Order: sequence, then structure tokens, then C-alpha cells
Amino acid sequence: MAEISYSELLKDAQARFADYLTPSVRLGVTGLSRAGKTVFITALVRNLVAGGRLPFFAPDAERRIVRAYLEPQPDDSVPRFDYEAHLADLLSSPPSWPESTKRISELRVTIEYRSAYALKRAIGLSKLHVDIVDYPGEWLIDLPLLEQDYRAFSTEALGFASAPSRAEFAKPFLGFLAGTDPAAVEDEQIAMTGAKLFTAYLRATRESGAQSTLAPGRFLLPGELEGSPLLTFFPMPLASDERLPRGSLAAMMARRFESYKSSVVKPFFNDHFARLDRQIVLIDVLTALHRGAEAVGDLEHAMTDILKAFRPGANSWLSMFLGRKIDRVLFAATKADHLPASSHDRLEALLKAIVDDAVTRAQTEGAGVHALALSALRATREATAKQGGEILPCLRGTPIKGERIGGVIFDGVKEAAIFPGDLPADPAAALNAARHAKSASLELVRFAPPKLVDTLSDGKPAAFPHIRLDRALDFLISDYLA
Ligand code: GDP
Repeated sequence: MAEISYSELLKDAQARFADYLTPSVRLGVTGLSRAGKTVFITALVRNLVAGGRLPFFAPDAERRIVRAYLEPQPDDSVPRFDYEAHLADLLSSPPSWPESTKRISELRVTIEYRSAYALKRAIGLSKLHVDIVDYPGEWLIDLPLLEQDYRAFSTEALGFASAPSRAEFAKPFLGFLAGTDPAAVEDEQIAMTGAKLFTAYLRATRESGAQSTLAPGRFLLPGELEGSPLLTFFPMPLASDERLPRGSLAAMMARRFESYKSSVVKPFFNDHFARLDRQIVLIDVLTALHRGAEAVGDLEHAMTDILKAFRPGANSWLSMFLGRKIDRVLFAATKADHLPASSHDRLEALLKAIVDDAVTRAQTEGAGVHALALSALRATREATAKQGGEILPCLRGTPIKGERIGGVIFDGVKEAAIFPGDLPADPAAALNAARHAKSASLELVRFAPPKLVDTLSDGKPAAFPHIRLDRALDFLISDYLA
């Protein structure tokens, strides 16, 4: 066995101590399924570690970033964000989008930089650990459950299920409930059947495109809990003053609901959410606009619910830590590359109007809330096209295989020029139009990722194209790099 000298041990201890003293920022990245979390993190990390073009990220523009690199993450119990596999997907030929977020994961990027302050610079290079925590937005919407008992949860969930827009999906579950007596003796088979039908209803509603916040979040994205008894419950109609008889089905459901809160929701908030310093919430605003008024209404509802998670509520046990820790929340409309540059500011203004309304409704205080429109990985190029003597801004990109525009079905290889339509210049008018739109106001085509190369002919890493990713970074971490 090789002998380790005293000086080597000392060096190792010094390095560990220095690492312990290195400041860190825990950055939460969330958003509902398909909002763009995986692409965002992969592109963000790539731009940091491979010297991307980030002119609006102040520390980079001031040329103070010396280098950034990946390091082992601090939490051994959390899966690592599979950066290398996601990057390989994007760099493959033909390029493909990486697999989306299904559970929590984490990645540590360490940034070495020169301080903006002479005194700090005199000590030498500074270091910051950026711990990126990726988690499904579906889990965040469980927060309100912590302040509800089973009865309140049931009332709200069944109220949602009987809304006309959900009737079609909820029918089998509501039919099952109509034939089930809450006072009947508890029965695992009935519990399993009910939970299955309840889950199927929640998922069908989500798959119909609703971006609404249907709790419990793990029923939509169970992560490692797939098939667990913790997810074997469902809401039941209960009279408000009725005591749940011991040994009854309703009492069993109430017990499972409480276990879900204590074994799933609370640990997630304590171990992960409560430890975040900064948060970015990614939102697919364009898909909502494309789907019309109901989808926009759902989105507004979801944002209010999400914002409530950041509200330091006066009486809740959550107020013990919420609002104290997360001091900046960035709402970002993703996939802005589906619009020509002339509409990026308009998309941002529209999102700001939605955020402002949600902030008022959620009565959020404490966290600094900001909104912007971005594309983490730009899949289109600006172009113009002539139509009847008029020059129109349009986009060029490769629609993914099977996409249809007019009568044309794309093969995933051929490029096309798309006119996505324009957003109104006035955000209030745009929001109003979106809330009442009977049909889609935008043409939305799913594009394949751009053809990327890892390194240029001179051996330097190639920059990945993006829109305003640097502004997002600037809001989220640049003050940590002062
Ligand atoms: P997640 O479920 O939040 O992890 O979502 P993903 O990051 O997997 O993104 C879902 C899909 O949105 C991707 O497969 C892409 O099709 C699309 N997407 C995400 N970001 C962008 C972007 O910046 N530009 C374009 N054109 N599409 C994007």
C-alpha cells in the first residue's frame, strides 16, 4: 500500500477546508413537464463551462470569469443531472432533444472568477459553487396540501373534477365514487381501483394540454414512488361535520393522505425546496397561447399556485423558512425562438403582465420576482419572406419528423420557413386577447435542435446559440460573483 505522507494529508485537509469555505448558491430549476428544464440546464452548463457567448451576464462581459467546471455534487442521496448524456443527444447526428425531467437531480458547477473589488482581488481568485437542483414543477404544487386536511383536499379535488372542461376525463372516476360508500369497511382492492382511476383522470387532464396545477403532484410524476402505497388514495365526498368511522374506507384514505404529506411532501420541502437560494420557474407560455383561452386560464392559475409556494404565509409552519431563503424568483417564458426577434420583447411583456397579476393574487412578498422570455437553445434563424410585395419576418428551422404545416408533413431533415404570427404590441391587449381567444393566435411548430458542433476547427469549444440565457444567469447569480 502506498504510504501517504503527513504533508499530503495536511494538503488534502486544507483543500477540503477551503472547499468547505467556498460560498455556494443553490439554484432551483423547475417548471411543469415539457417546459424546458432539461434543455435549459444542459445549455446553461455548456455555456458556462465552454465559454459561451454571454454578453448580458455581467461577470462574463467584464471578463472576470476565469473558468467554470463540473465538480462532484454535495448531496450523495440525490441523483446527478446527466449533463453528459443530454449534451451527447444534442450533439448527435442528427441532433435530438434530450430526455425530459422525471425526478429530482442535481449538478455542481464551480466558477473561478476575479472579484470586482480590489481588496478581494488582492487575496487571489475567488470561487463559487453553483448547485443546480432540477425538479418537476408538479411536485411544487403539493405545497398547499400541507395546510389542508383530507376533507378540504377532497372538497377541492372533487370540485375540480366536476368542472365541465374536465367532465370527459373524470367520468370513470366519478362513476366509481358514485358506487362507493365512504363508510364501507376499508379495502385495499377498492383503494387500488380508486387510486388508479383518480390517477388516470389527472393524467388525462394533463395530457389534454392543461397546464393547471392538479395535486397531488406525484400522481402525475411519481419519480421513484411509482406503485407505492403512499400513492394509493383518492378524494371522497364527505359531509363537513361527519366523523370518519374507524376502520372505514374514508378513514383509510385520510390516513394515506396524511402519510403522503408527511413522507413525501414534507421531506421534499425540507430537504430540497427549503434549501434553495434562487429559483427559476420555466413556463411554456407559447404553447398556452397556441392552445387558446382555456390553456391561458390554466397557466395563470398554475402561476398563482406556484407563487404561493414562495409566500412567507403568516401562520403556516412553512413561514419558518420560506421567504427567508429564496430571495429571487425568475419566471421565464421558454422557447422564444418560436417567434421572430421583433416579438421577443412582446412575449416578455405579456409574461410580465401574467406574473404581475399572479403576484397580486398570491399576495407574494419577500422574494424579488422578475420575468423574461428566453430560448436556452435556439433552434431557428431569423429570415424574411416576400408576400404580395410585403417583407415579412419569418423563421427558418427544421420541423421535427411528423410535424404538419398546411398540407405538408415534414421528414425531420428538410428546413422550412415559418410565419408564426405576431403578438400584439400592448401587453394588456395581448393578455386580454389571450384570455378570450377562441382559437390559436400563433402558429407553433416543433423544431429539431440546431446542428451543433462541439469544437471549432481551431480546437476552441463552439458557442451554442441562445436567446437571453445570459440575462437569466445575470439575474440569478451575478451578485454572488461580485
Ligand atoms: P422538461 O420536461 O421541463 O425537462 O422539458 P425539456 O427540457 O425536455 O423540453 C421539452 C421540449 O421542449 C424539448 O424536447 C424541445 O422539443 C422543446 N424545447 C425546450 N427548450 C427549447 C428551446 O430553447 N427551443 C426550442 N425550439 N425548443 C425547446
